[in-house]
Amino acid sequence: MKYVAGVDIGNATTEVAIARIEGKDIEFLASGIGPTTGIKGTLKNINGVFMSLKNALNKLGMDYSDLEEIRINEAAPVIGDVAMETISETVITESTVIGHNPTTPGGTGIGVGYSVMVDQLSKITDKMDVIVIVPSKVSFSEAADRMNAVKDNVNITGAIMQADDGNLLNNRLDKKIPIIDEVTMIEKVPLGMECAIEVAPIGSVVSVLSNPYGIATLFNLSSDETKRVVPIARSLIGTRSGVVIKTPEGDVKERSIKAGTITIIGAKKEVVVDVDEGADRIMEGVAAIVEIEDIQGEVGTNAGNMLDKVRRVMAGLTNKHKKDIKIQDILAVDTFNPQKVKGGIADEFSLENAVGIAAMVKSDRLQMEMIAQVLTEKLNVPVYVGGVEADMAIKGALTTPGTNIPLAIVDMGAGSTDASIINREGKVKLIHLAGAGNMVSLLIQSELGLDDFEMAEDIKKYPLALVESLFHIRHEDGTVQFFSEPLDPSVFAKVVLVKEDDELVPLEGVESLEKVKQVRIEAKKKVFVTNAVRSLSKVSPTGSPKDIQFVVMVGGSALDFEVPNLVTDALAQYEIVAGRGNIRGCEGPRNAVATGLALACVEQD
Ligand code: ADP
Ligand code: MG
Repeated sequence: MKYVAGVDIGNATTEVAIARIEGKDIEFLASGIGPTTGIKGTLKNINGVFMSLKNALNKLGMDYSDLEEIRINEAAPVIGDVAMETISETVITESTVIGHNPTTPGGTGIGVGYSVMVDQLSKITDKMDVIVIVPSKVSFSEAADRMNAVKDNVNITGAIMQADDGNLLNNRLDKKIPIIDEVTMIEKVPLGMECAIEVAPIGSVVSVLSNPYGIATLFNLSSDETKRVVPIARSLIGTRSGVVIKTPEGDVKERSIKAGTITIIGAKKEVVVDVDEGADRIMEGVAAIVEIEDIQGEVGTNAGNMLDKVRRVMAGLTNKHKKDIKIQDILAVDTFNPQKVKGGIADEFSLENAVGIAAMVKSDRLQMEMIAQVLTEKLNVPVYVGGVEADMAIKGALTTPGTNIPLAIVDMGAGSTDASIINREGKVKLIHLAGAGNMVSLLIQSELGLDDFEMAEDIKKYPLALVESLFHIRHEDGTVQFFSEPLDPSVFAKVVLVKEDDELVPLEGVESLEKVKQVRIEAKKKVFVTNAVRSLSKVSPTGSPKDIQFVVMVGGSALDFEVPNLVTDALAQYEIVAGRGNIRGCEGPRNAVATGLALACVEQD
């Protein structure tokens, strides 16, 4: 009888399986899990191995010295990274814009006129429509007096205020107008220019200024000019109030960077794709080259910058020179990226079309043997590098009840999606593709404009709810949950994440529950459905996923509460039976490789 441990050092997680072996019989005793320390395949991993081993051994009251053998994985030699770049720059040459969401604007409706400082109103002699500018040094009552006193030639159609006094001002006006307040940088509003303001009723959003043709109508724009206001209109979508100011041509100068091309290089041919054409075209290009040698972006363009960023990160990770980094696969995804609107005066953002890229490089410097040696010395237990990760993953996946060969698995981790297939004869074929859990989180972060990657990770992992009262929430599926104790007032009326034990985490500054949900699901589809189909096509004996019958999903991202369903749905059209793995009938999709490594200890006897 002996005790053995299988240890899987992943990009994100180090997993352990401990088993007792008697002759040909194996009994699994405990599992352990912990974060991988350092870059996979480097000596820094050893700390993580200690922690995960300890985690499992503690459950059994055992010590390292009770183990007779430890097997670590011959790690998949891939490292993934993600990057994001807008594919076209915002070009605004003739307008400044304030997209604004003051909590209490005054009045409602649309006003168009020339911007005039409140203390200059009495000096106007021409007949004109006016938008009054009220800096905070002028009190609302003084402003009201001045505005009520204008002569007949002046028609006041709206006001922009610096202080938060929109309602107070409107209450004192003889003629009610829309008023935007809380405009902190009011000194940036150019005077004597044509401007349009819109304030929507409570609970709605602007509809004229968020529509390019709406702006065109207000300012009499030509079709060329209308094209240029599209980013302005888009930056105002979803706000309660907004201002657009027409400034003379040339006031706001712009430089635009070309989107550029991506070249996918194979042994025999190359494919060049314009990034402008979108992610689908890029992926067609990637699919057209069977054995990719490298992928490059045009120098001095957005595409070039994006791939350069990836190469730099990878070079740092693998201790190589940038020019020696060969990108082996990319997953390109159409997305949106908030870009600061040039010419804006209140830090407005506009969601610009962007392409996100996950890239993967092969690394030949994985030092698994070295890790095994150091571990052997430190633990005083023989540590072997045992078997290719994909073989082990299949061995482990086959402990899922109801599975048999031939079988394909899709291992969905943090940086890469790996697929392998075992045929009736026991032969294994495998492929590593760029793009997995990190890419999903990056897309969520970018499309929702979040500062924080961890927040995006949480949005990926937890379902949403709306706190409708202090005693009940409505979950994203429509069900209502009641509470006997009042909830914390800080979550009231907020969109929240529902974590373990009903912990509610409010999401600040998000548009709506529906928006977050849509972004989340789309991000998961764009990465995992695409990669499941792509990877299965590559390992399939015929090149089509149709010829695979059973697929088991494993890895951390298979824990996701909706990814397995999205993939299962998508694969159903190929008549594939797909589902989340349940390693050893109890581990869920985790621990496949570690389990396979422990199993491998038996057969050698
Ligand atoms: P690796 O094999 O590369 O170490 P893992 O198999 O540990 O990777 O998977 C890590 C990925 O799984 C990360 O992207 C993480 O966000 C994701 N993940 C972990 N738990 C969950 C969960 N409960 N729901 C969704 N994703 C998860
Ligand atoms: Mg893994």
